[in-house]
Amino acid sequence: MEKKHKFSLWYVLIGMWIVLIAQSYIASMYAVQTIPYSQFLTLLKTEKIVEVAITANKIQGKMKVDGGAPNETKAFKTIRVDPELSTFLEQYKIVFKGEIESTFLRDILSWVFPLLLFVGIWYFFMKKMGAQQAGFMTLGKNKAKIYMENELNVTFKDVAGVDEAKQELVEVVEFLKSPGKFGELGGRIPKGILLVGPPGTGKTLLAKAVAGESGVPFFSLSGSEFVEMFVGLGASRVRDLFVQAKEKAPCIVFIDELDALGKARGFGAVGGHDEREQTLNQLLVEMDGFDPKVGVILMAATNRPEILDPALLRPGRFDRHVLVDRPDKIGREEILKVHLKKIKAVEDLDVGKLANMTPGMVGADLANLVNEAALLAVRRDKKEVGMPEFEEAVERIIAGLEKKNRVINVEERQIVAYHEMGHALVALSLPGTDPVQKISIIPRGIAALGYTMQVPTEDRFLMKRTELLNKIACLLGGRAAEEIIFGDISTGAHNDLARATDISRSMIKEYGMSDKLGQVYFAREPRSPFLDTGLRETGDYSDATAEAIDEEIKAVISKEYDRAVDILRKNKGILEKGAQLLLEKEKIDGAELKALMESS
Ligand code: ADP
Ligand code: MG
Ligand code: ZN
Repeated sequence: MEKKHKFSLWYVLIGMWIVLIAQSYIASMYAVQTIPYSQFLTLLKTEKIVEVAITANKIQGKMKVDGGAPNETKAFKTIRVDPELSTFLEQYKIVFKGEIESTFLRDILSWVFPLLLFVGIWYFFMKKMGAQQAGFMTLGKNKAKIYMENELNVTFKDVAGVDEAKQELVEVVEFLKSPGKFGELGGRIPKGILLVGPPGTGKTLLAKAVAGESGVPFFSLSGSEFVEMFVGLGASRVRDLFVQAKEKAPCIVFIDELDALGKARGFGAVGGHDEREQTLNQLLVEMDGFDPKVGVILMAATNRPEILDPALLRPGRFDRHVLVDRPDKIGREEILKVHLKKIKAVEDLDVGKLANMTPGMVGADLANLVNEAALLAVRRDKKEVGMPEFEEAVERIIAGLEKKNRVINVEERQIVAYHEMGHALVALSLPGTDPVQKISIIPRGIAALGYTMQVPTEDRFLMKRTELLNKIACLLGGRAAEEIIFGDISTGAHNDLARATDISRSMIKEYGMSDKLGQVYFAREPRSPFLDTGLRETGDYSDATAEAIDEEIKAVISKEYDRAVDILRKNKGILEKGAQLLLEKEKIDGAELKALMESS
């Protein structure tokens, strides 16, 4: 930075010098002879002066040249002298001339000084800009913030409610503490770890905690900082970052908001994405180029993994994904406890109740909640923060969050609970379906308000007809539960319906599983994928058959729906109980569900 600045000041000085030289050169070209005023008067009297131009204190003109051609003239100038005095001086034949006080220095100062002032101001502002965001002088330089171990006193203790993610990262800490040990054993160390989860769940915090726990330097950089106005800068920044990181190894390089940089290439049409592409390519090159044995671990965080370029997620790059999910009730309780340590709350504060009141909130919301409550207590002149303050803070935050569509209201939570319980109950009642592992009504992502996780016990390559039908019934169980309990249905089932319809269509068109249409394959692929004219699947069967297929798809769906309704009617008691449990705990695992079934 210093160097560059001096360099530009030199330019100014050299420029000034050139102007001065040029000026004197031009002046010499028009060589004007300066003559004393007395000589001027003599020349005047001998008719040697050809023409004059008179100003207040100068006379310029042309005079004849002695001994030259008759028409040859020469420029001259003289300084005017007080006319009265000049006649007097002339009488005594004294050589006299006028002189103008030199203004050279004054002239120079009058324009050099403002120039210097201007340069000074410019420098001052550039320096200030440079401090905030790289100005002109730091182009191409790396902006990664480097935290040394002692600056970063975040540890795993500060991150609560995300135990699964923490467990995954313990190994990384082990590696960073003694990189040599892992190398000796020949184990493959993860190169890139991608933290995935909704905003505010503590991804950035976790990355810092990994650095804090292992006590290594932590390079932190946001994806958007790579994307620069000038083409090529982002790429050079990436290069720079890795050079620095290798010097400081073992260390962690953390790229926050990777999606800003790593959006799939070819997205977004107009200008600017070229630069991002270059930067991304450079990142991929660097990632391939370094050996994790040197002890550099690359971590990144994103809340939109689906838009990332697939190249980033390939093995050898960000191949380990750590899900940082929204906390459940117990998780929220733990997070609240972490943040409550920072304020003075009443001793018998019911943290469990507080956690109950905050479904859908993430770590950042809870930190905000505690802070908000503390501020309220200050405003009320209280010595300690009590439940009333927390309750009001919850209201404030929920009112703000509702716009963000994150926290679902009581009625919707009920619908979701019965819906999910419906899926689970149908699955449990039908033999041969995948066991239910987890039911949750913690909203995830944008679309899903809850989910029922069924995990197959073994890899399957063939599916029997009854299994497919059972699967359809399970998918429809959600909607069936809504109808039985509330007498109304909601939009929450749209994904279920899409999947059920897909299965049913495949059964009829591809697998020949329809009694009515028989063992016929109706879903012929176009002959050549390259000659696909968009007229897929037409002409393979008649319109009448197409109608029959549609009828049959519908028939399968409605038959399975009736079956799901039947199962749930018979087990309405368990449905109610399970939904209540779900509302209370937000998450039920397979074992708890089994216990529930057996108890009734
Ligand atoms: P993200 O990077 O996932 O968007 P952050 O890590 O920036 O979220 O979290 C913002 C703040 O919220 C943190 O500084 C911390 O105070 C609080 N926070 C978030 N998650 C947790 C958590 N799991 N435990 C404790 N505090 C949390
Ligand atoms: Mg973050
Ligand atoms: Zn569903």
